[in-house]
Amino acid sequence: MSLWKCGIDGCAERFEDVESAIIHQTVEHDRHECTVCGSIVPDGYFAIRHAFEEHSRAEYVRAYDADSTAVRVREDIKAAIEDEADLRAVVEELKRRDAL
Ligand SMILES: [Zn+2]
Ligand SMILES: [Zn+2]
Repeated sequence: MSLWKCGIDGCAERFEDVESAIIHQTVEHDRHECTVCGSIVPDGYFAIRHAFEEHSRAEYVRAYDADSTAVRVREDIKAAIEDEADLRAVVEELKRRDAL
């Protein structure tokens, strides 16, 4: 079976389920400061979700000096996670740990 890789700053941790990967990203890694608006968000999935739900693609490309491939890669990751993850359970677990 395929494993979910963390991937933040080359982090090679792998997880059998996507929920564990998101919890790891949120609990174990430093927060990310959004370059567009300065919000502090958990790195990893939540940072991607913030960037693409709160900002337009054009804002993202400008702020991060990204190209369309970089945008597509992140949109694909976001879609794959949202297909698979029980995000409500993730958010509840993170709140229980005071991590959100
Ligand atoms: Zn990691
Ligand atoms: Zn932002």
